[in-house]
Amino acid sequence: MDRALGLVREVPDFPEPGVLFRDLSPVLADAAGFRAVTDAFAAALPSGAGAVDTVVAIEARGFLFGAALATAAGLGLVAVRKPGKLPAVADRVTYDLEYGSATLELPADTLAPGSRVVIVDDVLATGGTVEAAAGLVERAGATTAVVAVVVELTALGGRSRLPGGADFVSLLSV
Ligand code: 5GP
Repeated sequence: MDRALGLVREVPDFPEPGVLFRDLSPVLADAAGFRAVTDAFAAALPSGAGAVDTVVAIEARGFLFGAALATAAGLGLVAVRKPGKLPAVADRVTYDLEYGSATLELPADTLAPGSRVVIVDDVLATGGTVEAAAGLVERAGATTAVVAVVVELTALGGRSRLPGGADFVSLLSV
C-alpha cells in the first residue's frame, strides 16, 4: 500500500496558482497500485447488519475507484454526475465552491430507498462535493454508511462536513 500511495503525484499551481494538486493518474496506471487501493476499500467496508449494498461514485475520478470497488465487493454502482449528462434525473443538488457553484445529479431509477451506500471519490478537500452527494443519498431515502477516498487533504477540514454516522476511510492523509 505504501508503494501505491507513493505514486500519488504532487502538481504545484494546478488548476490555478497556489493550489497543490494531488494527481492519482500514476496510481491508476500501476496494476498493483490500483489493486491495492481497491482491496483496501473493500476490506474497510462493514459486514453483517451494517453492510452496504451500493457504491455511489462521484464524477469523474470517483467513477474509476468506485467501479473497481463495486466489482471487487459485489455491489451495484450509482454514478452521480455533473449536469447535462444524464437522460433522466431523479434529483440534483447545487453547492458552493470557493468561486462559483457546482451541481451533481442522481440518475433516475438507480438508488432504492433503504439502500446503504458507500460514497467513493478520489480526494476529500473541503468536503463540499461529498456533502452534496450525501444530500442526494439522503433525499432518495438511502443512508450513507461509509465515505471512502484515496486522499484526504486535512488542512481543508472536509471531515467536518461528512454525513453524521458514516464511517470515513481515507488511505492517505496529507
Ligand atoms: P471538495 O468538494 O472536497 O472541496 O473537493 C473534492 C473534489 O474536488 C473531488 O471530486 C476531487 O476529485 C476534486 N479535487 C480537489 N482537490 C483535488 C486534488 O488535489 N486532486 C484531485 N485529484 N482531485 C481534487
